[in-house]
Amino acid sequence: MEIQSKVCPKCENSYPATTEYFYRDSYTISGLSAHCKACRKLYYEDWCERNVEKVRQYHKNYQQSEKYKIYRKGYENSEKRLNRIRPT
Ligand SMILES: [Zn+2]
Repeated sequence: MEIQSKVCPKCENSYPATTEYFYRDSYTISGLSAHCKACRKLYYEDWCERNVEKVRQYHKNYQQSEKYKIYRKGYENSEKRLNRIRPT
């Protein structure tokens, strides 16, 4: 099977259309993200930099959420269980 090449619209480089160069994206027809991994990574880092407050707030919100509390509780319980099996 021949591997098709795919041009990233951002850096305009041509890469083989594989998951090695592109992230998976179930919303596209090809199943691969439009931008190459390098550009996606840059975009994400750039976004994080420009949204430092948002990211910080997001983590803060998450740590105060019920979901996180349940997760923490489950984690602590499993640690307790482990300690019971292997007393230190
Ligand atoms: Zn690119």
